[in-house]
Amino acid sequence: MTTNTLPWTPPAATDVEPLRVGESWDAVRVSPPVGERALALLGDDTGAVIQDAHGTFYWLVAIGSAASWHLRGTRVLCELVDEVTYLGVPPADWHDGPRIHWRVPLGPDRYLTNARLLWEALAAADHAELGPRVEGRQLCFRCQLPTDEPVIVGQEHGGSLGGGIIYACPTHAPDYQRHDPLVLLDALRCGPEAGA
Ligand SMILES: [Zn+2]
Repeated sequence: MTTNTLPWTPPAATDVEPLRVGESWDAVRVSPPVGERALALLGDDTGAVIQDAHGTFYWLVAIGSAASWHLRGTRVLCELVDEVTYLGVPPADWHDGPRIHWRVPLGPDRYLTNARLLWEALAAADHAELGPRVEGRQLCFRCQLPTDEPVIVGQEHGGSLGGGIIYACPTHAPDYQRHDPLVLLDALRCGPEAGA
């Protein structure tokens, strides 16, 4: 297979190239647990996918096709009026991690992902990995920053009747689900309900 049979390839380079989003494609950035599940759900319907050294997934979609999405753990990188966004794109023949690589390589029939199919897979993966959607803004137990995409990760026991609900941002929700006793302790000592 020569590269001229492919619908698109990054510029020939020996290293990661920052490419402007909104020029050939928009990119959908997805946190590792949600992305992993969405990739499995998409099966053969996925287009090419980049995975970076942190495990974050990037799907390429047609320009403007995902601009209005609101999913937890997902960010749509598209051209904005007042901001230029670049995505680091690995050479087409980087197929192995853990460095940034093409998790699903570009191919003659593998490039952009159908935005509707991707949205369905991400919505299902979001619900499966992060549970029911919670409205409003909450404080993440771990980074102590407000998040617009709170995930319920647990409930404080003891103390007042019912206890306080513990929230996390999508990035830190998996930390809690590992039931690391130190994380739990941290949450109880430093959580927003601490001292209440
Ligand atoms: Zn957090």
